[in-house]
Amino acid sequence: MCLYATDNLRGWTGLHLAEEVSARYGVECKVENDAICALKGELRFYPDLTDVTMLTFGTGVGGASLVNGEILRGRNFDAARWGHVSLYPNGRACSCGRRGCAEAYLSASAILTHTRRKLPVKNGEELFELYKKGTKEAVGAVMSFASDLNLFLSMIRTALSPQLILLGGGLMNAREEIEKLIHDRLDIAFARLGNRAGIYGAAFGL
Ligand SMILES: [Zn+2]
Repeated sequence: MCLYATDNLRGWTGLHLAEEVSARYGVECKVENDAICALKGELRFYPDLTDVTMLTFGTGVGGASLVNGEILRGRNFDAARWGHVSLYPNGRACSCGRRGCAEAYLSASAILTHTRRKLPVKNGEELFELYKKGTKEAVGAVMSFASDLNLFLSMIRTALSPQLILLGGGLMNAREEIEKLIHDRLDIAFARLGNRAGIYGAAFGL
């Protein structure tokens, strides 16, 4: 049962998703967190690693962590929900009801909403195109994203010191530009399955 969903998924709180899907399609259904699915998809490429954190940057910011070979899970819901760690106390309002969460700064939606106050960009691709051309507002938006991303990564390293931090989600289509803006790249890799990592992870089996 979906205990709680942010406004990204309106009306999902209280939904018995597996039952609904099983009833409609007549197949067995299991439900898993999308970031955990993405992590499982990518882990196929790193069979020897035991400590890996996956971050997905899309509508929201998803997170999942493998610690000592086990997926980190909380008591009532998934732990390692990195999108909702606080980057800035009393910062921007987040869809979860708190303030200053990583998601409110690093999701594609947050970046675009914020950038559009100064520059009418359609999507992340356009933002990074304008950044490459040196458009002032786009450069400002990307620099501020990079600064927040570096802070976010340093918090995750402090908490778990993973062997590898994987970056995925639609925003990472701009990996060529983003890679150059990450200060410490030794433990960073980009999702090889791209935005489809979660689909593969679910298909591999939960
Ligand atoms: Zn939040």
